Amino acid sequence: MTLSLSTAKSNRVWPGLIEAYRQYLPVTEATPIVTLQEGNTPLIPVPTIAQLVGRQVRVLVKYDGLNPTGSFKDRGMTMAISKAKEAGVQAVICASTGNTSAAAAAYAKRGGMRAFVLIPEGYVALGKLAQALVYGAEVFSIKGNFDQALKIVQEMAMSYPVTLVNSVNPYRLEGQKTAAFEVVEALGDAPDWLCIPVGNAGNITAYWMGFCEYHQLGKCLRLPRMMGFQAAGAAPLITGQVVAHPDTVATAIRIGNPANWEKAIAVQSASRGQFNAVTDAEILEAYKLLASEEGIFCEPASAASVAGMLKVKDQIPTGATVVCVLTGNGLKDPATAIEHNQNSFSQGIAPSLAAVAKVMGFE
Ligand SMILES: *Cc1c(COP(=O)(O)O)cnc(C)c1O
Repeated sequence: MTLSLSTAKSNRVWPGLIEAYRQYLPVTEATPIVTLQEGNTPLIPVPTIAQLVGRQVRVLVKYDGLNPTGSFKDRGMTMAISKAKEAGVQAVICASTGNTSAAAAAYAKRGGMRAFVLIPEGYVALGKLAQALVYGAEVFSIKGNFDQALKIVQEMAMSYPVTLVNSVNPYRLEGQKTAAFEVVEALGDAPDWLCIPVGNAGNITAYWMGFCEYHQLGKCLRLPRMMGFQAAGAAPLITGQVVAHPDTVATAIRIGNPANWEKAIAVQSASRGQFNAVTDAEILEAYKLLASEEGIFCEPASAASVAGMLKVKDQIPTGATVVCVLTGNGLKDPATAIEHNQNSFSQGIAPSLAAVAKVMGFE
């Protein structure tokens, strides 16, 4: 009786992704697990968007904005911080467009470490900055962009007793690959296409690792084409050139020199995938569509996956299953949300039934 109750309970409670996928991750009994029960995010059908594609194509979004700090970065950070703690590290450092710093701060604090964060001044969404500050990270903004911040923290980690937790940290990608496991488990196989926003290209690399690992184990029968999307103002993987001054409303992918450039190219060719650019206008269109038609509020960078899928929709095979990754939560960037939406907001109305009914058009 006791046994069956506890079994039922352990089946209901999600233990976080390291415990859930322990056998696929580089952890041992000696690794202290630092977790906020990240992972296990929903794969949500988006039928209105699927209709825009037509031809019986099934479209679902992997809503990783529902992780504990609001982005997929938590998947990598639970691994990076657990391994740092195992190694006796007392301080971690990262460069960030915002979400890495939020995740690093939360997990470092939970693991009892200091977190140093370097951000590009003026280009971090308000919610992300609020998170890093309230989690207690030591935040420094530089008069420069993400690429410059990354270079500095890489050198810091070589010269001082701080551990780098950007996606060049190999444990990050190990944690992030679990999102692909969850997609396969939810669908019963890999999708035909995986559409994903690309900045430093860590996540696309991690998803591909996850799909390949499950494929080798026979847990999925096919492998997806990996479709990566960058913002037109920050699209080095499409132009083949480093972008010195990247510019886009999608600040999470405002990156001109991706840290995982070679890996991304390898994923593209191995999966017969493609990289394409989407404009800020297309990103914002998809952002509004997801929220106002599907009830899903993601941040602008995340909407690049849906914008990109719609841009190349004519290439999707009839009846295919497409998964678009929504990397971060819409609440991260309230300024963009307030500025870009299609709903009317009437203000200054007299506090009476008659006045309210009138502005609503009932009178
Ligand atoms: C980090 C991030 C990305 C880009 O992921 P990469 O691994 O750098 O390619 C995309 N969207 C959001 C919301 C992010 O936080």
